[in-house]
Amino acid sequence: MKKILSIVSIVCASLLLSACGEKNASQSSTTAEPQQNYKWKLVTSWPKNFPGLGVGPEKFAKHVELMSNGRLTIQVYGAGQLVPGFEVFDTVANGTAEMGHSGAYYWKGKIPAASFFAAVPFGMNAQETNAWLHYGGGLELWQKLYKPFGIIPVAGGNSGVQFAGWFNKEINSIADLQGLKMRIGGIGGEVMNRAGAIPVNMPGGEIFSSLQSGALDASEWVGPYNDLAFGFYKAAKYYYSSAWQEPTATLEFLINEKAFNALPNDLQEIVKVAGRAVNDDMLSEYTARNSAALKTLVEKHNVQVRTFPPEVMAKLKATTKEVINEMVATDESVAEVWSSYKAFYDDIRAYHQITVQAYLENRQ
Ligand code: CA
Repeated sequence: MKKILSIVSIVCASLLLSACGEKNASQSSTTAEPQQNYKWKLVTSWPKNFPGLGVGPEKFAKHVELMSNGRLTIQVYGAGQLVPGFEVFDTVANGTAEMGHSGAYYWKGKIPAASFFAAVPFGMNAQETNAWLHYGGGLELWQKLYKPFGIIPVAGGNSGVQFAGWFNKEINSIADLQGLKMRIGGIGGEVMNRAGAIPVNMPGGEIFSSLQSGALDASEWVGPYNDLAFGFYKAAKYYYSSAWQEPTATLEFLINEKAFNALPNDLQEIVKVAGRAVNDDMLSEYTARNSAALKTLVEKHNVQVRTFPPEVMAKLKATTKEVINEMVATDESVAEVWSSYKAFYDDIRAYHQITVQAYLENRQ
């Protein structure tokens, strides 16, 4: 009897629970706010799904879609699919796309100070640049710089230390740079110009054919992982590892400010955190893949790895100082950004000299 009673009570309890559950479900469906879904476009300066650079924004879109449970979906476009690679900034500024993924030094003509958020010749490496951006006031200055264009920048990946580039002849002296048509942008491009070369700014997707046709004598791009993917070894023989122009290359996510402000708080946070995740992930990917790619270039494709002689490096270093000093003297935003960058760099360089640099030497 006791047993029957307890079974009845369990049945009753479960009936009550399910009735109660139904009531709650119907209540919540009538009182909950309708959830709006958002569909964004993201334009990039890279070929669709290009290793590292192009995969970063694809991962970002996937993170955002999963974390938002499909409430924010982002369609990623390669360079030229919606707009050319160098029109990413304007496309996000005018709202045609809600987001972009690119490198800040591409906007040097429009915003001279932008270069300092991508790469500074002889400047900080990836670890140091990330520290400046996220804990040294750098990101706030970057946001201030893009504010008049209605764009919010977020660090969006990093290649680490790059290679000086591909050359169709050996560089043994400053004289070898004279008249050399080289694809190189940013502050490094202006330095090369003053050292006697002819810098050309062009999106990555056009470099290979220009090297092959002879329209270019030389080109820097990224490093072994990316340069192998583009097949530059078929068009130029000498690969210079002498990093100077890009001791880091910080990429950027560009977010249209109005579109961002229209998002609820949780989706805004998801966009920011996904951007930060990709910024970190990409550096790990390059660090893992570059050395294997260099082995392939050397052992399979007989690429000749070289370094610039000290005379050339000294000239590039002195010229970099000259170029930056002139930029600081002629542009208020550059002066403000450089003051912050340089103060942070001076401190961290001294610290890293007795820690990182000493360790790298000690472990040899
Ligand atoms: Ca580069």
